[in-house]
Amino acid sequence: MLQLIEIPTRTVEHGSLGIIEALPLTGFHFERVYYLYGVGANGQRGQHAHKKLRQFMVCLNGSVEVTLEGSSEKRSFTLNRRDQGLLIPPGYWRELGHFSSDAVVAVFASDPYDETDYIRDYSAFKAWLKAQEQAPVPYIPMERCHRELLSEFYCSVKQVVSKSTYISGAPVAQFEAEFAQLCGTKHAIGCGNGLDALVLILRALNIGPGDEVIVPTNSFVASALAVDAVGATCVLIDNEESAYNIDTQALAGMITPRTKAIMPVHLYGIPAAMDEIAALAKQHKLFVIEDAAQAHGATYKGRPVGGLGIAAGFSFYPTKNLGALGDGGAVTTNDDALAQRIRLLANYGSVVKYRHEVKGCNSRLDTLQALFLSHKIKHLPEWTTRRQQLAKLYAGQLGNISDLVLPRVPEACSAVWHVYPVRVKNSQRDTLKTYLEQQGIGTNIHYPLPIHQQPAYAEHAQLTLPRAEQYAKELLSLPLDPYHTDVEILRVTSAIHNFYQQAQEQAA
Ligand SMILES: *Cc1c(COP(=O)(O)O)cnc(C)c1O
Repeated sequence: MLQLIEIPTRTVEHGSLGIIEALPLTGFHFERVYYLYGVGANGQRGQHAHKKLRQFMVCLNGSVEVTLEGSSEKRSFTLNRRDQGLLIPPGYWRELGHFSSDAVVAVFASDPYDETDYIRDYSAFKAWLKAQEQAPVPYIPMERCHRELLSEFYCSVKQVVSKSTYISGAPVAQFEAEFAQLCGTKHAIGCGNGLDALVLILRALNIGPGDEVIVPTNSFVASALAVDAVGATCVLIDNEESAYNIDTQALAGMITPRTKAIMPVHLYGIPAAMDEIAALAKQHKLFVIEDAAQAHGATYKGRPVGGLGIAAGFSFYPTKNLGALGDGGAVTTNDDALAQRIRLLANYGSVVKYRHEVKGCNSRLDTLQALFLSHKIKHLPEWTTRRQQLAKLYAGQLGNISDLVLPRVPEACSAVWHVYPVRVKNSQRDTLKTYLEQQGIGTNIHYPLPIHQQPAYAEHAQLTLPRAEQYAKELLSLPLDPYHTDVEILRVTSAIHNFYQQAQEQAA
């Protein structure tokens, strides 16, 4: 964690130059630089810690000794060179002493002055460190990821301002190419959000009033809303037995002469049974439209989702596996004509400025969001691997609890674990959720109501879709994010074990 970093220097006949570039050298963007001098041989500085602030410390003249104490190490450094700096992450108690009389120490800090970020009392620092071990486990610790990438985000803001292109442009085309590559498709078309992506696909396929689209009722409401948005009829279907995606057994029975498309959702990042769906679709000449909003990078029998039907809709909502810093979405497809039509629709029906071929809409991916997404997509493979490791950790730790049903991944598929859903039997879901909350552990429910039971879908209220209805009462989503530590996940699993142990003791 603690690191001495060499500062590039250049010496020419006129003298020398040391160069500190924020991002490449320190890995963070500094917002404040200050320097200490005139402290004297017996003087001390420091004697505090920071909760979030990162620093880079350089002794420009003379020498100083810096002692740093964190949760797992205590080390001293003598700084006496202009071409070397010390990188100090948050969470270290620091003491600066043994100043030479001519010492000048420059400090580059990641944030402006903020008194609430300081811990000025040593015993308070020790207590804070201890509390960190028991700190709440957030459902999604999004700030961790975004703070790490903040410097790159700043650079993107600067780039957009200096080019004055805010909508479309080269960064959007670049991200579209990167995303198409991830999905193994010929095209990716950026748009405003995941709902728009699905609506654009339906519109481009001329699906509208009088047409039916089959949608799983166990999904986020957007899957159904897209169908309603084009005036088509949403036919809601149950999920599989002991799994959560569209029930392919029931599918054939739902197909009518008016059916135009099936919209499987790769819910929780687990691929739907695409071969069975494709076979039925082929037989009845239906389109398969993937709702892949939760499944960036998942694969079905070795093939990435996004290219398994006529087109797929993705969301870059901030909490998705690949999320922007705001709304965003994309359509992927291998169909050239469809891609062209979607581009046209999403940009006011216009290719040539102020000439409108069709009555389109405005649904575009911002240039800035595309740049943010290009930074993040580079990390997606490692984040996905981390999600898979944590899912394995859960499976190993919770596999022996008979009252919990853990998620399964269909054969030859790779899930990307947007959500780690467990089913809590014996009507204990809400009690367990409250218990975990009391331990500071964030959980979620995906989804408390199937779509046909939503107030907005009152016209479907007479439907009985028993698995979705039962599972909605049992499902509990546990914290799973690439930025969770193993220690945090083990806190979750041991809290769950404690919950069942207490329940057993009470029963005995
Ligand atoms: C998030 C999500 C959407 C909608 O995406 P937005 O970007 O929020 O519009 C659609 N379908 C599913 C399954 C989702 O999870």
